[in-house]
Amino acid sequence: MSELRWHPLLREWVAVATHRQDRPQMPQDWCPFDPGSGRVPDDYDVYLYRNDFPAFSDEAAPFEPETGLFRTTGARGSTDVVLYSPNHNLLPSQLTVEQWEKVIGLWVRRTNELFADPEIQYVAVFENTGVAIGVTMPHPHGQIYGFPFIPPLAERELASAYEYHVENRRCLYCEILARETEDGRRLVASNDAFVAFLPFFGRFPTEMQICSRRHFQKLADMTASEAHDLASMLSIVRQKYDNLYDFPMSLMMMVRQPPARGDHPYFHFHIDFLPIQRSPKKIKYLAGVESGTGTFLNDTRAEEQAAILRRTDPK
Ligand SMILES: [Zn+2]
Ligand SMILES: [Zn+2]
Repeated sequence: MSELRWHPLLREWVAVATHRQDRPQMPQDWCPFDPGSGRVPDDYDVYLYRNDFPAFSDEAAPFEPETGLFRTTGARGSTDVVLYSPNHNLLPSQLTVEQWEKVIGLWVRRTNELFADPEIQYVAVFENTGVAIGVTMPHPHGQIYGFPFIPPLAERELASAYEYHVENRRCLYCEILARETEDGRRLVASNDAFVAFLPFFGRFPTEMQICSRRHFQKLADMTASEAHDLASMLSIVRQKYDNLYDFPMSLMMMVRQPPARGDHPYFHFHIDFLPIQRSPKKIKYLAGVESGTGTFLNDTRAEEQAAILRRTDPK
């Protein structure tokens, strides 16, 4: 059973989901995501799987936004697993562009469904990959969470984008993209519709952003040709990451969209990659400074890492 508890010092919700502790270590020779397991169709390309151990659930009590000391409310929402492929041992970097297009198609369909649900305020499409991140399941997959509130980092970024737009009559992301393109030192790859670069201000080692050249807000706003270019860019970026240190990069991928409710024309679609490998042998831990103060120490310089990634295959 899940509940949300209000953190009055940080003014944010904490999801308490103790049943997640009981998640089994999977037997080596069985995977619920494999065709033939009885848990997924015997024949699929990509598949949306209901999380067996949800932090948010449509069976939880309704969310009530009132806050206060010792306040709790229901963790109403959804948590889905997105299976990228029926092939258990395939790495995300080994997915074809066509397969990424199918994954993106599933992201769009599920986002649209959740945006239509009045109880959902925010949809997070993301992926955790790698043992170092704590992922016990090698099968290639990502996740989609439907939140009953706007999570704090999304809210903070939205406020920044809104204020920049009010003050400058210009999109914050378009401005960053223009300046990164003009400077060039932190660019990694680009195509007709998307640019991948290591942001000047990245917090994680070799942190990367894929930003759309055209100003639009959400996955569903993409044209077919933009979706194809995004699939191609995802394929290139994932290969570069896995070739950087010659082993699969442990990372988080976050697809950034505006909240489900209201109009947010100042928001600009992008995807953030947050790796935790700071060198071939060293993991970046979120320790006292990062977790306890919120200030990040980045052990890599975006300019140097971008130059290496530009030379890394696929060139
Ligand atoms: Zn599997
Ligand atoms: Zn923009």
